[in-house]
Amino acid sequence: MTTTPTPTEQTSPGEPPQQEEKGRFRILAADKLAPEGLEYIDSQPDCELVNKPGLSEEDLAAIAGEHDGMIVRSAVQVTAKVLANPGRLKVIARAGVGVDNIDLEAATNAGILVMNSAEASTLSTAEHAFTLLMALARHIGPAYRTMYEGGWDRSKFSGVQLADKTIGIVGFGRIGRTVAERALSFEMNVVAYDPFINAKTMLDGKVKMYGSFDEMLPHADIVTFHVPLNDETRGMLGPAQFQACRKNLLIVNAARGGIVDEDALIAALDDGQCAGAALDVYTEEPPPADSPLRRHSKILCTPHLGASTREGQKAVSVAAAEQLLEYLRGRGVRGAVNAPGLRVDLTPVQQRFVDMAGRMALLLNPMITRGVANVTLELLGEDVIGAAGTIERSTLVGLLANRFDEPVNVINVKQVAEKRGIKVRVVTSEESGPRGSQLAIEVHGPEGAVDDRTHPKDRVRRIVGRVYDDLRPRVVDVNGYHMDMVPAADMVLIQNEDRPGMIGMVGGEFGQAGINIADMTISRRDQTALMLLKVDTPPDTALINRLKARPGILKVSCVRLPPEPR
Ligand code: NAD
Repeated sequence: MTTTPTPTEQTSPGEPPQQEEKGRFRILAADKLAPEGLEYIDSQPDCELVNKPGLSEEDLAAIAGEHDGMIVRSAVQVTAKVLANPGRLKVIARAGVGVDNIDLEAATNAGILVMNSAEASTLSTAEHAFTLLMALARHIGPAYRTMYEGGWDRSKFSGVQLADKTIGIVGFGRIGRTVAERALSFEMNVVAYDPFINAKTMLDGKVKMYGSFDEMLPHADIVTFHVPLNDETRGMLGPAQFQACRKNLLIVNAARGGIVDEDALIAALDDGQCAGAALDVYTEEPPPADSPLRRHSKILCTPHLGASTREGQKAVSVAAAEQLLEYLRGRGVRGAVNAPGLRVDLTPVQQRFVDMAGRMALLLNPMITRGVANVTLELLGEDVIGAAGTIERSTLVGLLANRFDEPVNVINVKQVAEKRGIKVRVVTSEESGPRGSQLAIEVHGPEGAVDDRTHPKDRVRRIVGRVYDDLRPRVVDVNGYHMDMVPAADMVLIQNEDRPGMIGMVGGEFGQAGINIADMTISRRDQTALMLLKVDTPPDTALINRLKARPGILKVSCVRLPPEPR
């Protein structure tokens, strides 16, 4: 017999953390932020701004946990030591893009969301890339230096015109597209490569898309990079590509250092294959004082200035503050860096599925007494598939809640599951079930962990839910028992032998304990029945023990779910 003696208070697992009771959100600005971002926080009635840029690691570690959110730029180091006692810290927002100064692993393990405000610097960075291109094409850097040094050389600095040249854009995301729009207005031919865009052309047919970088490269007079640095993009313009590119190629890299192989670049510039390169980013930042990247006559270099405009800094600092508060207020997750798949820009139906996933998992939780080895999620219906990542996180939080010492939340739950070898499989089908979109959660324990007397259907814990047009979540199946119940508030699950008198007996026990049964559903299979009760007050341990001692009762578990969503 399996019993959960006392119900435990549960928060809705899919929900981000809520404001400390009665208090205001305390937001620590741990770096020097543009004043607009600080003013924005200060103007919010539910916020208290603590502006302390320039703290030492020790001082930051001492106060970080007293704040709900922290905003940083790139100067402050948010190390594992700073996050060792996370206290009430739930989110760190980087005003800008790079999060190299934040220990992401430590943040994730502590359940702290890290976000950046990459979007806000799109325009400034695209403009910088285009500025670099124009300056490179017309030798603005060396021409200026010659003038500054007293010279006057007109023939040496004859440049190339951009109109009619072909620019190859690598990475057609936010910045790549913005550069493309500018290049088109300069009457350039624009081609691009982005493996995640499955279209032959973009921007109303004006941009031809290639299927690979190597395929695009020979068609370009200029190549500009706007991709993240990862295993695929590191060194993607290397010795082999320089052999295959057009002679006198011009290169712009305002994305990340290392995408262009720096040694191969110097060689290609020296042997004349490449006519010039404009760099804003470097493998090592800053590059060493004697780096050829600083002094090569064909290289125009800037010190990582892409997002550094007054407007850019204002935009990233306001965006970081807005995103941080949006998350703390439970209204959204934008720019998440350490919680892939987590979304809050969900449709009402998707939101309900995310919420219901957590409720369903919490209902299963007390029935899982021998551990979790594999979890399978089945999502039927086009409308819910977009929320699969968030549904997965919400489910895992519900399943793993209260099982470990460490707190589990939507940010760290995938790491927590992975550390414990729990395998998660998400199966999706665009076709909905016969009665609309549907979510099924199936949990298998470790092999051999279930004793042989258990009915085969009981070796797998499975729960199925739907959200109908009224947006009310419904559990329609628990371990093969069919039903229709809104999972909310205090719920008791009783599995019993299917014989006369059981309902009366259970009703009598609750009546004697002075507990009102608000709703009840009964389902039967294989000479057993499952009663799912919604009660006005949770049963105490004495009542649970009395019930489980009654002949014919097989299992009793109870759980406190959040109230029904409105
Ligand atoms: P984004 O995510 O909007 O776009 C990146 C694009 O690259 C995506 O469309 C993605 O599909 C594509 N991509 C991924 N792997 C690819 C590959 N192997 N080949 C080709 N394309 C690939 O990002 P964004 O905001 O446009 O930023 C682009 C880059 O610019 C990032 O590296 C970012 O860090 C950098 N950035 C630099 C500065 C600066 O100060 N210089 C400022 C902001 C952003």
